[in-house]
Amino acid sequence: MRTDSSFLKGQIDLRELASNYTSLGGRASAQERYGPCPQCKGKDRFHVTIDWFFCRQCHPKRGDCIEFVQWIYAIDFQSAFKFLTNQNKMASLSLSSELPKSAYHSTALTPPIPFWQARARAFADYAQKQLWQLEGKSGLYYLKCRGFTEETIQMAGLGYNPRDISDMPKSWGIAKSDNIWLPGPSIVIPWLVDGNYWRINIRLLQPRNIGKKQYRYIGPAGWANGLYNADTLRANRPAILTEGELDALTIAQYAGDLVAAVATGTTEGSRRDKWIARLAACTLVLVAFDSEPAGDRAAQFWLNTLPNATRWRPLWKDPNAMAQAGADVRAWIEAGLSSAQVAIEREIFEL
Ligand SMILES: [Zn+2]
Repeated sequence: MRTDSSFLKGQIDLRELASNYTSLGGRASAQERYGPCPQCKGKDRFHVTIDWFFCRQCHPKRGDCIEFVQWIYAIDFQSAFKFLTNQNKMASLSLSSELPKSAYHSTALTPPIPFWQARARAFADYAQKQLWQLEGKSGLYYLKCRGFTEETIQMAGLGYNPRDISDMPKSWGIAKSDNIWLPGPSIVIPWLVDGNYWRINIRLLQPRNIGKKQYRYIGPAGWANGLYNADTLRANRPAILTEGELDALTIAQYAGDLVAAVATGTTEGSRRDKWIARLAACTLVLVAFDSEPAGDRAAQFWLNTLPNATRWRPLWKDPNAMAQAGADVRAWIEAGLSSAQVAIEREIFEL
């Protein structure tokens, strides 16, 4: 099996890859960064640049990105190569133009600028206050009709925006001539990860037509490609990946003790190494994208990328539709977890 790894070198910033496994000190733009070793945990003995790393204690020899992945996951060269090129589970390792593009970017993925986040926080706080007042009654009613308990609504920090707000772009730290449109009446969904506001998604109670396009979801520009509810992910614990935030919240409500429920927001969202690495560390990942062709196609990316992913198709269109129809969401999750476990064991046995 021929595997040419040299092309990877120019594509992957080892500093960004490593930052998923340890917290790096030094300026974010510094050539060489350092931090606790992700393996031996020793303080500041781990050093990393764009193309090499070493740990003074447990890996004194410099290694490249493939060696880093081998070292972290204790896997062989081929598996590490597959991990980095999103070719997991693909039959052929020969390089061809038909292989999916690597999800690894040379630029680091960071949350929006602090100025944007401050405005996002202020708007989310305002909307949350509205939801629990008289004015928010229709928003709260809408969320309850979708099956959410008040506890879930509060835990997720969901809010209600009663009417259209046109905000100045400079209030969000954005150099842009068009005003920022915060439409209402709508449900406001904050994306808070590691204490940062990555995104604000606004779900209109009634879809709105603007020009030829119909809008159901809209959010202020300047957001970053996050993973909704990523804070719930834990290594050695299963996860479930959905498209919609409300689907992830549905699962969290019924089976949050069994599985970490995270959402990509759109079919092609969250395809960044930061999130891929966090998901790859979970025991298994159920890919519960919508039961329709677009969802099936988008799910394939995650099945190809993650070594621990299994498709788990919702019985209705999506997990929230299942809850609304009165299906037992918890039993569906339990079945998914045991069926994925069996599949993983079979794969290990056959290797
Ligand atoms: Zn070490």
